[in-house]
Amino acid sequence: MRVPLETVKLTASFKLDGSFPESLFSTYREILGQLLDHAWAKGVTSFERLKAEKYHELRARYPSLPSHYIYTACQMACSIYKSSRKLKRRGVAKAEKPLFKKQVMMLDDHLFSLDLEGWEASIAVGGGKVRVKLLHGTYHEKFKGMRVGQAWLVKRGSDLYLKVVFSKVVEVVETNEKAVAVDVNENNVAFGTMERVVNVETKERIIRTAYFLKRRRLQSKPRLDEKPLLAKYRGRERRRVEAIYHRIANQIIDEANEAKASTIVLEDLTNVRKRIKRSRELNGRLNRWSFRKFQRVVEYKAKLAGLNVVYVDAKGTSSLCPVCGGRLSPNGHRRLKCRCGFEEDRDVVAVKNLLRRYQMDVGASPVHPEGPPMTTERDEKCEEGRDESLF
Ligand SMILES: [Zn+2]
Repeated sequence: MRVPLETVKLTASFKLDGSFPESLFSTYREILGQLLDHAWAKGVTSFERLKAEKYHELRARYPSLPSHYIYTACQMACSIYKSSRKLKRRGVAKAEKPLFKKQVMMLDDHLFSLDLEGWEASIAVGGGKVRVKLLHGTYHEKFKGMRVGQAWLVKRGSDLYLKVVFSKVVEVVETNEKAVAVDVNENNVAFGTMERVVNVETKERIIRTAYFLKRRRLQSKPRLDEKPLLAKYRGRERRRVEAIYHRIANQIIDEANEAKASTIVLEDLTNVRKRIKRSRELNGRLNRWSFRKFQRVVEYKAKLAGLNVVYVDAKGTSSLCPVCGGRLSPNGHRRLKCRCGFEEDRDVVAVKNLLRRYQMDVGASPVHPEGPPMTTERDEKCEEGRDESLF
């Protein structure tokens, strides 16, 4: 019997301590600029083609640079150009020609190695290797036994960070009709099976609003030391929200194990975005990323626990009857009813609709239609050069 396999990818971020040649960043950006110009002028979206057309020329121009920097720059240029085309098609691109101004370098396994026991990284530079100490980071037990993939070297001000992608192939159980669906809302997460739905209040908006107001207060009376304070608040806010994500994700996995479910059903977020547009002001900016981030946490935890993860279309899940498919009408506080006699809480309705869609939808998409939350092996090589947090 074939055992279903899934690749879990997680990114760890380490702050680095040690001297690193400044010039490498500017050289890399220069190369990236030339590659972007070329990709843009010729409409090159394939990494192989970009490499074939530019590698030798760049190799000759920068002979002392380790050659793999040119490879990774080709990958980055390719993915930056592709995403700029996508933005342009959607009509939201700022500039005609894609530009990249950030201090970011992509590293492959020829360009760096990690020594997690000794908390050190070794990075290739012109004429040898530089050893740097890993300071505090997000390295955690969960990365143990995972394979080290590519990485990004990121410079912010005078600080240097190394973001490393860890991956692991896990065995997941054979899919059956038993699943736990997850409905994410602004202030609560509802999840469960046809038999039982649990509703957890997230208080995320309360936390975010409190910190938003705190920051605004701080900015309205400028002081010399406001920057570190702002950063401190931002860090605290992120950690508090992330702690909530992890707690709820664990509850979801427990529920799935208890129900002997094979699959976690998540909503395709394309429609959630549309929903959010209605209440833009605070919400759009504060919540857009967090739904996605929460799903990512659920997804990797589920896969590490041997569960399958599928995304189903969330359109109409809170307005249609999960029994007959008819349109529901409001019946008091958060209650919805149908002409067929069905009546339920709106969170329960959403969860049941997601479950029903999963059960009907044999071809449920295993990855998020907007691009996988965690890059999987099926991706084109170009996509590997992409990390949403960096672009
Ligand atoms: Zn009905």
